[in-house]
Amino acid sequence: MATIVQKFGGTSVGDVTKIKRAAERVKREHEAGNRVVTVVSAMGKSTDTLVQLANEISDSPDRREMDMLLSTGEQVTISLMVMALKEMGIDAVSLTGWQAGIKTEPVHQNARITDIDTERLETYLGEGKVVIVAGFQGMSESGEITTLGRGGSDTTAVAIAAALKAESCSIFTDVTGVYTCDPRVAKHARQLQSISYDEMLELANLGAGVLHPRAVEFAKNYSLPLIVRSSMEDVEGTIVEEDVSMEQNLIVRGLAFEGAVTKITIERLPNRFHAMSDVFSLLAESGIDVDIIIQQMTGENEMNVSFSLHTQELPEALKLLENNHEQLGYQGIRHEDSLAKVSIVGSGMVSNPGVAANMFQALSDHEIEVKMVSTSEIKVSVVVPEAKMATAIDVLHSTFELDASEKPKVTV
Ligand code: ADP
Ligand code: ASP
Ligand code: MG
Repeated sequence: MATIVQKFGGTSVGDVTKIKRAAERVKREHEAGNRVVTVVSAMGKSTDTLVQLANEISDSPDRREMDMLLSTGEQVTISLMVMALKEMGIDAVSLTGWQAGIKTEPVHQNARITDIDTERLETYLGEGKVVIVAGFQGMSESGEITTLGRGGSDTTAVAIAAALKAESCSIFTDVTGVYTCDPRVAKHARQLQSISYDEMLELANLGAGVLHPRAVEFAKNYSLPLIVRSSMEDVEGTIVEEDVSMEQNLIVRGLAFEGAVTKITIERLPNRFHAMSDVFSLLAESGIDVDIIIQQMTGENEMNVSFSLHTQELPEALKLLENNHEQLGYQGIRHEDSLAKVSIVGSGMVSNPGVAANMFQALSDHEIEVKMVSTSEIKVSVVVPEAKMATAIDVLHSTFELDASEKPKVTV
C-alpha cells in the first residue's frame, strides 16, 4: 500500500466549494487503496486577515501570541475538510500540528521542525482513516505552539512525507506548476517539466513564493520527489528532484525577484580588524536579516560598507547604527530605498562563464542601473531600481531564452 502525502494551499481551500473539490481528490487517492495524509493551509487569505487584526492592536505584537493567533487559521480548514470527507462517506480525522507529532525549535513565527513523532499518524492510517493535518504549525518541547514562517504548510507536508517514507509529496496550488518566473508577473513565463532541488532552493530563497524554501531543503535531504500541481485542473505539474531531464538544456532555468529592498551605506568606517563583525553582529543580534554586503576601501584606514535589507527593517537598522555611532566610529550613513532584487538561477551556469556578463549587458542595453551584485555557483542577483524591476524581468527572461510562445495560465 502506497503512502500519499498531499498539500492544499490557501487558494485551493479558499471557500467551501473549493474544500469540497479538494476533498474529492483526497477521496480518489483513498479509494485507489492508498494511505492518505493531507496537509491544508488556512482558507484563502485568512492568515493575512489575522495578521491585520494583530497589527490593529499593536505595532509589534507579542510573538508567542501571534503563533497562538495564526495557528487558528489552519484549524478551521482541517475540521471543514474532514466534514466534507465524511459527507462523502470517507472515514477521516483532523489533527493539529502538535497532535500530528510535529516538534519544533522553541522559536516563535519561524520555527524549524526538529522531529516528527508519527505514532498517532500511523495509528489512524492503520485504521484505514484519511488523516487531515493542519499545516504551518508545531509544538516546542516546552509545549508552546509555534509556526513555521509564512508559506510553511509546504514544509509540514514534505516533513510528514519524509517521516512516513512516502514515495513523493504533491503540493496542490493555484498554478499548474513551477514556471521560469512567477506567471502572474512575467508575461511569457513557461512551465517547467522538472527542476533540480538546488535550483528550486535558490529560486525559493530569492523570492519565488511557490514553495517554502525549507520544504525544498527537506525534500533534498530525504531525496523525496516533490510535485507542484494545480488543484483546479488535472494537468501535469512540475517535478522537483535531484536529476533533471535535459529539457531544453538551459543554462538559466528561472528568474526570481523581490521588491522593497533598501541599500544602506556606512561611510568611512575605520578599518579596524573587528569593524565588520561589530556592524553585522549588532544587526544580527536584533534579528535584522542582511542580504548583499559590499566593502570598499576609501583610504588607507577607512572603508565604505554597503548592505541590502528589506525596507521594512530599515528604521530598526538605522536606529541601531545611530545609537552605536560612537563605538563604530563611522562618518555618515546613507540609504537608498525603492530598490528590487532580480536573480537568475540555473545549474548550467557552473560550466558556462559569461552568464553574468550577458546579464549586465542586457540590463545596460535597457538603461537599467545595477546597484549591487551577488553571485553563487548557480545564481546571479542584481539590485536595481524598483521602478525598473518589471523591465529587468522581461529583458532577462528573453535574453536567457525562457519565453513561452503562449501566455501562462493562472487561476485567480
Ligand atoms: P498556496 O496558497 O497554494 O501555498 P502560494 O501563493 O504560496 O500558494 O504559491 C503559489 C503562487 O506562487 C502562484 O500563484 C504564483 O503567483 C507564485 N509564484 C512565484 N514564483 C513562481 C514560479 N516560479 N512558478 C510558479 N508560481 C510562482
Ligand atoms: N497559512 C500560512 C500562510 O498563509 C501558511 C501557508 O499557507 O503555508 O503563510
Ligand atoms: Mg504557499
